[in-house]
Formats: sequence, C-alpha cells, structure tokens
Amino acid sequence: MNLHDDRAGRLILHLRQQGVTDPRVLAAMEAIDRAVFVHERFLDQAWEDQALPIDCAQTISQPFIVGLMTQALEVGPRHRVLEIGTGSGYQCAVLSRLARYVYSVERYRSLLTEAEDRLKLLQIDNVITRHGDGGLGWPEQAPFDRIMVTAAAPHEPTELLKQLKPGGILVCPVGRTSVQMLNRYVGQPDGSFSRESLTEVRFVPLVEGAAKEA
Ligand code: SAH
Repeated sequence: MNLHDDRAGRLILHLRQQGVTDPRVLAAMEAIDRAVFVHERFLDQAWEDQALPIDCAQTISQPFIVGLMTQALEVGPRHRVLEIGTGSGYQCAVLSRLARYVYSVERYRSLLTEAEDRLKLLQIDNVITRHGDGGLGWPEQAPFDRIMVTAAAPHEPTELLKQLKPGGILVCPVGRTSVQMLNRYVGQPDGSFSRESLTEVRFVPLVEGAAKEA
C-alpha cells in the first residue's frame, strides 16, 4: 500500500464515521486525488479533513463538507448537475464521477483555468465550465437535475431554483455572516420547494458579477 492509499483510506474511514455513508460518494472521493487540487505548500495536508486556502483568497472545502453536500444531492448516473463556484475544481471532480455531466461556473478566470488544467490532467471529460456570475445560474443549459452552490448565498437562491427540474435537489449555504446554514431544497410536484436545514457551515460569500482580474 502506498502513501496515497493509506492517507486516502484513513480520510474515507473518518468521513464514514462522521456520517458520510453513501458508498458511491465515498468511492468517488477516494478516487479523486485531493493533492492535485491543493497548493504545493499544503501538499502534506491534502488528505486531512480541513479546508485549505487556494488562490484569489478562496478555499478548497473541507472533505467532510464535500462528502456531506454530495451525499445530500443524491446524484444519479444520468443527472446533469450544475455547480456554482468551481474554485480548485475538487468538488467538480468528485461530482463528475457520479453524474452524466457537470456544469461548473466560476467568477475568477484564473481559478477556472487552473481547475480546467487539473480536470484535464485527471482525464475527466464530462465537465463543462464557464467564466461568469454563477448567481445567475446557466439559463442556456437549464433545467438541471441537481444544483450545488459552494459559496454562501446572501438569501434564498430563487434564481437557481428556477433552473431546477421538477423533483430536483439543490444544496446551498445561505446566510450573510461568517457562519451560514446549509440548506437542501427539493422540488415538489406542485412546483414549490421543501427546505431542510442540514448543518452550520463556513463558506466564502457568493459575490455578484464576474471578478475583475489584473
Ligand atoms: N467548489 C470549490 C470551492 C470553492 S470556494 C472547490 O472544490 O475547490 C467558492 C468559490 O466560489 C470561489 O472560487 C469563488 O470565486 C466562487 N464564487 C463566488 N461567488 C461566485 C459567483 N457569483 N459566481 C461564480 N463563482 C463564484
């Protein structure tokens, strides 16, 4: 057993103990090498259960939160999934193992370019990316079976809910302060949405508009 397998195995065991029990989610997370997505100086922490800084003052999420959100999304192999906040591309790579297609939107072009390079390196070919304001969703590709927002929305994600298929699921942190509520919305037959609060989380905010970069 090499070092990667050993560390990955320990993290997966920890996630299972914490309540991420869906075998498909655990298998996807074990298959994606998180070390590819973290900055070189944090390589030794790549398989620890913690969020880490990435460029543009953003973060790659804590593996437990990635597991929890992915599990809550109940992704199926025929699903088209929209992710808002590509960041490092890690969550996107995990989703790509579970879904038919993943559409991912990021407001920093430089982060998006790096994420695309990593996905290419891992030979992931079912992810379609876009530079822009994910708060607006991706109307041209809507509706989606599943939507995951990996930045904190200041209020209910009404624009994104409009782009969800009937019966679809959307997971999104909602709140204006440093701690937000992770909400799960499920589309109902009458067109309304049920809302369930899963846990408190700390995400960087969802910021309006594409980022202006030097
Ligand atoms: N899913 C990422 C975590 C990203 S952190 C990963 O696995 O690494 C949140 C990301 O959301 C940041 O990269 C940030 O730039 C992006 N973001 C914030 N507001 C956004 C918006 N309106 N549209 C698109 N991306 C946004």
